[in-house]
Amino acid sequence: MTRSTDLIHHTYLPPAEFEAPQVGIFKASTVIFPNVAAMRTREWLDKSSYTYGLHGTPTTFTLEERLASLEGGTHCLLTPSGLASIAHVDLALLQAGDEVLIPDNAYSPNKALAEGELARFGIRHQFYDPMNPDDLAARLNERTRLVWLEAAGSVSMEFPDLVALVRLCKTRGVLCGLDNTWGAGLAFNAFDLTPGQGDAPLGVDLTIHALTKYPSGGGDVLMGSIVTRNDALAKTLKLSHMRLGTGVGANDVELLLRSLPSLPLRYRAQDLAARALAQWCTQQKEFVQVLHPALPGSPGHAHWQRLCVTPQEPQGLAAGIFSVVVDARFSTPAVDAFCDALTLFKIGYSWGGPMSLVVPYQLSAVRQLATPQLQAGRVVRLCIGLEDVQDLQHDLAQALLQLR
Ligand SMILES: *Cc1c(COP(=O)(O)O)cnc(C)c1O
Repeated sequence: MTRSTDLIHHTYLPPAEFEAPQVGIFKASTVIFPNVAAMRTREWLDKSSYTYGLHGTPTTFTLEERLASLEGGTHCLLTPSGLASIAHVDLALLQAGDEVLIPDNAYSPNKALAEGELARFGIRHQFYDPMNPDDLAARLNERTRLVWLEAAGSVSMEFPDLVALVRLCKTRGVLCGLDNTWGAGLAFNAFDLTPGQGDAPLGVDLTIHALTKYPSGGGDVLMGSIVTRNDALAKTLKLSHMRLGTGVGANDVELLLRSLPSLPLRYRAQDLAARALAQWCTQQKEFVQVLHPALPGSPGHAHWQRLCVTPQEPQGLAAGIFSVVVDARFSTPAVDAFCDALTLFKIGYSWGGPMSLVVPYQLSAVRQLATPQLQAGRVVRLCIGLEDVQDLQHDLAQALLQLR
């Protein structure tokens, strides 16, 4: 054998027995079959074997199984981003003539996708008021095929009566999918929303999770997951996954596998810090409202309490993210100057990483329905990282001088 061939077909195989805290990282587009018969007969759909990198490797299967457990599901698929997971669900489950219902406070690109590509494909949509189950009930109709849910909502952080919304979908026989990024599988179990109540468990049909946020925890990976407990639904989603080709790279999966064990610790630490800062913000006269579901008086606080405060978690759990409504007498340039004056809080999207982030929002630009639960004023979202809480509080205090 020539050297060049030998470099590719070298016969040395390391001993199979190897164990370390981290699982091995397998990279492959091509998967090698021992013979043609194996190629013809191997199962493509489940995790019993390997066929092609896009369809799964030991590395992606491992992350999928861990995420399914985290969220209380049984099947998981990985996609290249949280938004790709939303798009994947829409494309796999909807067809022309169907309608999808989306909460008005959903992650905005979910709404933009409905207004763009879905509309172009003849898939209709309506935005509903997540804080009013009667509004969802009134909009459900014979075309409705999928209802998206989000708890808490994006930016304005309202916590809906998830149990009531899911029960409504079940009663009407409509699939419901939860964007579970905020809860991260820790704050509540989306697949068992009424634990220990004796009735048949009430849960969503599927979740999507922007792994980009907490599971990554580093601000350096884009990835999403789709989790379900429903075998038939899992198969539909998997078949679409094979046709759409939205797989993920092993290097990114490696980063996720590395940071997943510290997820509960990071979530808890960021929750504690965010609550302390949110509490402090309630005492600043420039802020007319602090939007954090664990704060009494914040929209949907009682719903958060009912779902997230349990005997095991007497303080409840919440993501380390909240918004403040700045008094309407402050102009957009003044609020922008407040954000610019922050030094530890960096200006940027995303959350769940080590660095605190700030984004000012023009809520009226992304909301179609009335928001009587929100005070008038400009909204600033704060995502709390892993810095010292006192340092972050000082940063907010010095930037507030810009407004005073
Ligand atoms: C960030 C985010 C997404 C999208 O995740 P990407 O990986 O950035 O595409 C979806 N939903 C929510 C609630 C998010 O915060």
